[in-house]
Amino acid sequence: MTLHLVSNKPSVIGILDLQGGVHEHLDHLERLGVSARRVKQASDFVDLAGLIIPGGESSCISRLLNIFEIKEVLLQAHREGMKIWGTCAGAILLARKVVGETSCLDLIDIKIERNGFGSQLDSFVSEALIPAVSAKPIPLTFIRAPKIIGVGKEINVLLKIDDYIAAAENENILVTVFHPELTGCLALHRYFAIKCGLKLAANSHDYIDPLWKSSSWTRQAGIA
Ligand code: GLN
Repeated sequence: MTLHLVSNKPSVIGILDLQGGVHEHLDHLERLGVSARRVKQASDFVDLAGLIIPGGESSCISRLLNIFEIKEVLLQAHREGMKIWGTCAGAILLARKVVGETSCLDLIDIKIERNGFGSQLDSFVSEALIPAVSAKPIPLTFIRAPKIIGVGKEINVLLKIDDYIAAAENENILVTVFHPELTGCLALHRYFAIKCGLKLAANSHDYIDPLWKSSSWTRQAGIA
Protein backbone atom coordinates (compact mmCIF):
# COMPACT_ATOMS: atom_id res chain seq x y z
CA MET A 1 0.00 0.00 0.00
CA THR A 2 1.35 3.44 -0.88
CA LEU A 3 0.27 6.20 1.44
CA HIS A 4 1.02 9.81 0.63
CA LEU A 5 1.78 11.04 4.08
CA VAL A 6 2.73 14.67 3.84
CA SER A 7 0.97 17.62 2.21
CA ASN A 8 2.12 21.25 2.22
CA LYS A 9 2.42 22.24 5.83
CA PRO A 10 1.47 19.63 8.40
CA SER A 11 0.32 21.22 11.64
CA VAL A 12 -0.92 18.33 13.75
CA ILE A 13 0.97 16.38 16.40
CA GLY A 14 -0.06 12.74 16.80
CA ILE A 15 0.25 10.54 19.86
CA LEU A 16 0.88 6.88 19.20
CA ASP A 17 -2.13 5.21 20.79
CA LEU A 18 -1.25 1.55 21.18
CA GLN A 19 -0.53 1.42 24.92
CA GLY A 20 0.57 3.85 27.63
CA GLY A 21 -0.09 7.45 28.66
CA VAL A 22 -1.86 8.91 25.63
CA HIS A 23 -4.58 11.06 27.14
CA GLU A 24 -2.20 13.19 29.24
CA HIS A 25 -0.13 14.15 26.18
CA LEU A 26 -3.29 15.08 24.24
CA ASP A 27 -4.39 17.23 27.14
CA HIS A 28 -1.04 19.07 27.35
CA LEU A 29 -0.96 19.75 23.60
CA GLU A 30 -4.54 21.03 23.62
CA ARG A 31 -3.72 23.37 26.51
CA LEU A 32 -0.98 24.82 24.31
CA GLY A 33 -3.45 25.29 21.46
CA VAL A 34 -1.77 22.60 19.32
CA SER A 35 -3.98 20.36 17.14
CA ALA A 36 -3.42 16.82 18.32
CA ARG A 37 -4.85 13.40 17.52
CA ARG A 38 -4.49 9.77 18.47
CA VAL A 39 -2.55 7.61 16.02
CA LYS A 40 -3.61 3.97 15.81
CA GLN A 41 -3.46 2.99 12.15
CA ALA A 42 -1.60 3.80 8.95
CA SER A 43 -4.05 6.46 7.74
CA ASP A 44 -3.62 8.40 11.01
CA PHE A 45 -0.03 9.25 10.01
CA VAL A 46 -1.11 11.52 7.17
CA ASP A 47 0.03 15.13 7.60
CA LEU A 48 1.66 14.82 10.99
CA ALA A 49 4.26 17.44 11.86
CA GLY A 50 5.26 15.33 14.83
CA LEU A 51 4.52 12.17 16.76
CA ILE A 52 4.78 11.50 20.49
CA ILE A 53 5.53 7.93 21.52
CA PRO A 54 4.27 7.87 25.10
CA GLY A 55 5.50 6.11 28.20
CA GLY A 56 4.12 2.69 28.97
CA GLU A 57 5.81 -0.63 28.37
CA SER A 58 8.31 -0.59 25.52
CA SER A 59 8.18 -4.34 24.87
CA CYS A 60 4.40 -4.17 24.57
CA ILE A 61 4.37 -1.10 22.27
CA SER A 62 7.09 -2.69 20.13
CA ARG A 63 5.00 -5.84 19.66
CA LEU A 64 1.87 -3.86 18.88
CA LEU A 65 3.72 -1.82 16.22
CA ASN A 66 4.36 -5.11 14.44
CA ILE A 67 0.95 -6.67 15.08
CA PHE A 68 -0.87 -3.59 13.73
CA GLU A 69 1.68 -3.33 10.88
CA ILE A 70 2.42 0.37 11.41
CA LYS A 71 6.15 0.27 12.13
CA GLU A 72 7.07 0.79 8.46
CA VAL A 73 4.57 3.60 7.96
CA LEU A 74 5.92 5.32 11.09
CA LEU A 75 9.46 5.10 9.70
CA GLN A 76 8.29 6.36 6.31
CA ALA A 77 6.50 9.33 7.88
CA HIS A 78 9.68 10.12 9.80
CA ARG A 79 11.75 9.98 6.60
CA GLU A 80 9.28 12.41 5.05
CA GLY A 81 9.82 14.92 7.88
CA MET A 82 7.70 13.90 10.87
CA LYS A 83 9.62 14.67 14.09
CA ILE A 84 9.30 12.26 16.99
CA TRP A 85 9.42 12.68 20.77
CA GLY A 86 9.71 9.56 22.91
CA THR A 87 8.91 9.78 26.62
CA CYS A 88 10.29 6.97 28.78
CA ALA A 89 9.16 3.75 27.00
CA GLY A 90 9.05 5.87 23.83
CA ALA A 91 12.70 6.81 24.33
CA ILE A 92 13.59 3.12 24.64
CA LEU A 93 11.84 2.39 21.32
CA LEU A 94 13.75 5.19 19.55
CA ALA A 95 17.21 4.27 20.88
CA ARG A 96 19.98 2.85 18.74
CA LYS A 97 21.19 0.56 21.55
CA VAL A 98 19.16 -0.98 24.36
CA VAL A 99 21.23 -2.81 26.96
CA GLY A 100 20.65 -6.58 26.61
CA GLU A 101 17.98 -6.23 23.91
CA THR A 102 17.64 -5.51 20.21
CA SER A 103 16.63 -1.99 19.26
CA CYS A 104 13.20 -1.27 17.82
CA LEU A 105 13.19 1.92 15.71
CA ASP A 106 16.89 2.88 15.94
CA LEU A 107 16.31 6.57 15.16
CA ILE A 108 18.62 8.28 17.66
CA ASP A 109 22.20 7.42 18.57
CA ILE A 110 21.78 6.82 22.29
CA LYS A 111 22.45 3.81 24.52
CA ILE A 112 19.67 3.23 27.04
CA GLU A 113 19.19 0.87 29.97
CA ARG A 114 15.62 -0.18 30.77
CA ASN A 115 14.50 0.11 34.40
CA GLY A 116 17.79 1.85 35.20
CA PHE A 117 16.60 3.00 38.64
CA GLY A 118 15.05 -0.31 39.73
CA SER A 119 11.46 -1.41 40.12
CA GLN A 120 8.16 0.51 40.05
CA LEU A 121 8.66 1.23 43.76
CA ASP A 122 11.83 3.15 42.92
CA SER A 123 9.81 5.73 40.96
CA PHE A 124 10.39 9.30 42.13
CA VAL A 125 9.90 12.98 41.38
CA SER A 126 12.43 15.81 41.30
CA GLU A 127 13.03 18.98 39.29
CA ALA A 128 15.80 20.46 37.19
CA LEU A 129 16.66 23.40 35.02
CA ILE A 130 16.81 22.60 31.30
CA PRO A 131 18.06 25.93 29.90
CA ALA A 132 17.29 25.09 26.27
CA VAL A 133 13.67 24.37 27.18
CA SER A 134 12.65 26.85 29.87
CA ALA A 135 14.04 29.57 32.12
CA LYS A 136 12.23 27.97 35.09
CA PRO A 137 12.94 24.60 36.74
CA ILE A 138 10.94 21.75 35.23
CA PRO A 139 9.24 19.13 37.43
CA LEU A 140 10.42 15.61 36.56
CA THR A 141 8.45 12.40 37.14
CA PHE A 142 10.41 9.16 36.77
CA ILE A 143 8.32 5.96 36.63
CA ARG A 144 10.35 2.75 36.34
CA ALA A 145 12.42 4.94 34.09
CA PRO A 146 15.30 4.00 31.83
CA LYS A 147 18.71 5.67 32.01
CA ILE A 148 20.45 7.03 28.93
CA ILE A 149 24.02 5.93 29.54
CA GLY A 150 25.74 6.93 26.29
CA VAL A 151 25.22 9.22 23.30
CA GLY A 152 26.79 9.62 19.88
CA LYS A 153 28.77 12.72 18.88
CA GLU A 154 25.94 14.49 17.07
CA ILE A 155 23.54 14.22 20.02
CA ASN A 156 22.62 17.35 21.95
CA VAL A 157 22.37 16.51 25.65
CA LEU A 158 19.60 18.64 27.19
CA LEU A 159 19.78 17.32 30.77
CA LYS A 160 22.40 15.26 32.56
CA ILE A 161 21.95 14.26 36.19
CA ASP A 162 24.61 12.33 38.14
CA ASP A 163 25.69 9.41 35.94
CA TYR A 164 22.86 9.43 33.42
CA ILE A 165 21.31 11.60 30.73
CA ALA A 166 17.63 12.38 31.20
CA ALA A 167 16.88 14.34 28.01
CA ALA A 168 18.61 14.51 24.63
CA GLU A 169 17.90 15.22 20.99
CA ASN A 170 19.13 15.19 17.45
CA GLU A 171 17.69 17.31 14.66
CA ASN A 172 14.56 15.21 14.29
CA ILE A 173 14.13 13.21 17.50
CA LEU A 174 13.67 14.26 21.14
CA VAL A 175 13.92 11.78 24.03
CA THR A 176 13.12 12.23 27.72
CA VAL A 177 13.27 9.44 30.29
CA PHE A 178 10.77 11.28 32.52
CA HIS A 179 7.10 12.15 32.02
CA PRO A 180 6.32 15.88 31.48
CA GLU A 181 2.72 14.93 30.66
CA LEU A 182 2.21 13.83 34.29
CA THR A 183 3.09 17.28 35.65
CA GLY A 184 1.45 20.66 35.18
CA CYS A 185 4.39 21.92 33.14
CA LEU A 186 3.90 22.50 29.42
CA ALA A 187 7.48 23.52 28.62
CA LEU A 188 8.59 20.31 26.91
CA HIS A 189 5.40 20.05 24.86
CA ARG A 190 5.96 23.63 23.78
CA TYR A 191 9.61 22.83 22.98
CA PHE A 192 8.59 19.83 20.85
CA ALA A 193 5.85 21.78 19.04
CA ILE A 194 8.42 24.42 18.07
CA LYS A 195 10.86 21.67 16.99
CA CYS A 196 8.04 20.43 14.73
CA GLY A 197 7.86 23.88 13.12
CA LEU A 198 4.50 24.83 14.62
CA LYS A 199 3.67 28.40 15.46
CA LEU A 200 2.14 28.72 18.90
CA ALA A 201 -0.37 31.36 19.90
CA ALA A 202 1.26 34.45 21.39
CA ASN A 203 -0.49 33.82 24.72
CA SER A 204 0.67 30.18 25.03
CA HIS A 205 2.95 29.59 27.96
CA ASP A 206 5.38 27.01 29.27
CA TYR A 207 4.96 27.38 33.00
CA ILE A 208 2.93 25.28 35.35
CA ASP A 209 -0.76 25.74 34.77
CA PRO A 210 -2.26 26.59 38.17
CA LEU A 211 -5.53 24.89 37.21
CA TRP A 212 -3.87 21.59 36.37
CA LYS A 213 -4.57 18.67 38.69
CA SER A 214 -2.38 15.58 38.74
CA SER A 215 -4.07 12.50 37.33
CA SER A 216 -5.61 9.86 39.55
CA TRP A 217 -2.68 7.58 38.74
CA THR A 218 -0.04 9.87 40.27
CA ARG A 219 -2.27 10.70 43.26
CA GLN A 220 -2.79 7.00 43.96
CA ALA A 221 0.91 6.34 43.74
CA GLY A 222 1.54 9.17 46.18
CA ILE A 223 4.17 10.75 43.97
CA ALA A 224 2.41 13.97 43.05
N1 GLN B 1 10.02 0.40 32.29
C1 GLN B 1 9.28 0.64 31.09
C2 GLN B 1 9.92 -0.07 29.91
O1 GLN B 1 10.98 -0.62 30.04
C3 GLN B 1 9.16 2.12 30.79
C4 GLN B 1 8.34 2.80 31.90
C5 GLN B 1 7.67 4.05 31.47
O2 GLN B 1 7.44 4.32 30.30
N2 GLN B 1 7.29 4.81 32.45
O3 GLN B 1 9.35 -0.07 28.87
